Amino acid sequence: MTQTVKLACTCGKVAGEVKIIKQENFHVKCLCCDCQNFATHLGHDDKTLDQHGGTELFQTYPAHVTITQGEEYIACLSFSPTGLLRFHTSCCNTPIGNMLRNPKMPFVGIPVAFMQFTTPSEKDTTLGPILMQAFAKYAKNGKPEGSHDRFPLSFMPKILFFMGKGFFQKKFMPSPYFKDGKPVSPPQVLTDKQTT
Ligand SMILES: [Zn+2]
Ligand SMILES: [Zn+2]
Repeated sequence: MTQTVKLACTCGKVAGEVKIIKQENFHVKCLCCDCQNFATHLGHDDKTLDQHGGTELFQTYPAHVTITQGEEYIACLSFSPTGLLRFHTSCCNTPIGNMLRNPKMPFVGIPVAFMQFTTPSEKDTTLGPILMQAFAKYAKNGKPEGSHDRFPLSFMPKILFFMGKGFFQKKFMPSPYFKDGKPVSPPQVLTDKQTT
């Protein structure tokens, strides 16, 4: 049985859904400075970041994500010309997905704040526990329990297996973030100055 979770930006103009398929996702937390800067730059830090500056992410295949309304409000930024593409909405600056620049990379990190749950316990049953907390060297107010200072190497084989499977099964498309091999909205590259 495939479970789906509704997606909606803060103002509700952009909406969609994501399929939750067993072994085709990771529920993680990223505490890196870029994720923190991204949320702060958008003025969405109060909703996206936890008390340690962590962003809860649901990583899955782009093919599992559908945007059903408000595509015209999808915008994109990046912190360098080759950096991660960080999609957000232009209506209310909700972060909606992080992707690699290569459209054939079967990977998207959806901020959990973009996912709609009626209760915290519904979220827990649907997503399961957080499997890994990375880049805690950038954490604020102390490091969360069980977090890793960097990206834990022990997690690498799982990611590689996930990427390999997604690539061969072409789960990088269809994607709401890319069209004809290009981001649906041209990425705006921010300089360091613009992020502080
Ligand atoms: Zn919105
Ligand atoms: Zn990060």
